[in-house]
Amino acid sequence: MAQKNIPYKIYLEESEMPKVWYNLRADMKEQHAPMLNPATGEPMQLEQLYPIFCEELAAQELDTTTRYIDIPEEIQNFYKMYRPSPLVRAYCLEKALGTPAKIYYKFEGTNTSGSHKLNSAAAQIYYAKKQGITSVTTETGAGQWGTALAMACVFFGMDLQVFMVKSSSEQKPYRKAVMETYGANVTPSPSETTEVGKKILAENPGTGGSLGCAISEAIEVAVHTDNCRYVLGSVLDHVLLHQSIIGLETKIALDKYEIYPDVVIGCAGGGSNLGGLIGPYMKDRLDGKNAPYFIAVEPASCPSLTRGRYAYDFGDTGNITPLLKMYTLGAGFMPSPNHAGGLRFHGMSPVLSKLYHDGYIDEARSVEQSKVFDAATMFARTEGTLPAPESAHAIWAAIEEAKKCKETGEEKTILFGLTGTGYFDLSAYQSYNAGTMSDYIPTDEDLQKGFDSLPKIPGVQ
Ligand SMILES: *Cc1c(COP(=O)(O)O)cnc(C)c1O
Repeated sequence: MAQKNIPYKIYLEESEMPKVWYNLRADMKEQHAPMLNPATGEPMQLEQLYPIFCEELAAQELDTTTRYIDIPEEIQNFYKMYRPSPLVRAYCLEKALGTPAKIYYKFEGTNTSGSHKLNSAAAQIYYAKKQGITSVTTETGAGQWGTALAMACVFFGMDLQVFMVKSSSEQKPYRKAVMETYGANVTPSPSETTEVGKKILAENPGTGGSLGCAISEAIEVAVHTDNCRYVLGSVLDHVLLHQSIIGLETKIALDKYEIYPDVVIGCAGGGSNLGGLIGPYMKDRLDGKNAPYFIAVEPASCPSLTRGRYAYDFGDTGNITPLLKMYTLGAGFMPSPNHAGGLRFHGMSPVLSKLYHDGYIDEARSVEQSKVFDAATMFARTEGTLPAPESAHAIWAAIEEAKKCKETGEEKTILFGLTGTGYFDLSAYQSYNAGTMSDYIPTDEDLQKGFDSLPKIPGVQ
């Protein structure tokens, strides 16, 4: 074999780490439709974004032309504490599957927050601090985003208030403990601390809360607090930009061994890890070169790409955010409970939505959670790492592809994103191990209720 010996882990030297982020939009032939002001139906101008995002992030959000954006040195230094993340050759999984495929995964779970979300949290808090913002608010469901943000906030010196969906904070008390250890103020949502929280509690005493409700509380506090901003961990273009570090590192590492993937797979919640991972390879496709086959994987319980509409919608249940053109199940869609909290968002990144709509992302698949946990368990037992349920969606598809290779004898190179670890998801593993896990798949009628909540915008839709 001509190929060099490939180690189990391909690491980069600090000096080889990317110093720029890659802005995929600079190479897109057509841009996604602009973010709209819901009050006027007109595209949001830069200054109109300033009350929502700090200025640098607002500029990144609207930047469609700068291909490479410098990563400020302070953020590079923060990244050096936990990056480069390992790129692993899944020799043991390959062996267990008996496949001729070569499987690689980029593992983002080595930091304490346990996921890739820290890559954007660090960037967002750095820019906010630089502008003199003194506190930020956010919501968290599964807890990964809140934890990542708590780590970034304590590092850069920023106060943080996290509204954590009450049912999650009860299911995952240790998440709250970690956030508090990093100095965050964690409030189970709905709470008595906001007007919207009081209203929801009065109407639904004893409710376990929802992400939409937590977002509404976080925004209310941000709007009523001086020098405070609300921050979001996925979906937006600037979040995808920061996550491009994942794909850039991967490409540098694989290029060292002259490896080029045939298939690239990622789980898709709001789309940030997938957008980040595929970035440099998607560039090849946009440039008209040979490129991998791209697969997005989502839960059957929250199937925005596979069963959603491509339409303008709000990012939140409270209908406060600007309108985004994206694949969506409707901001009013209430996903049934599943264990991949990070994938329970009704919409999808506008960049990924556009790429998928125009055929640049080859395929989206949805999968039931019992199959996801079959894959997660196989992965844990062979590769040793306990995956996050979200990440296990990508594992599932990688295994499917590797099995096909076994049938055809093709030696494809499969790359997938392992976005995080499953240490805080043990109640989900418990339920899987006990055989009590069930699969929820929304009916067409369930989905119709969500579509009925789509906003009607005169002259647009
Ligand atoms: C949040 C999260 C996801 C999904 O978010 P994207 O923005 O789609 O990447 C996936 N995996 C983990 C571990 C997460 O925490």
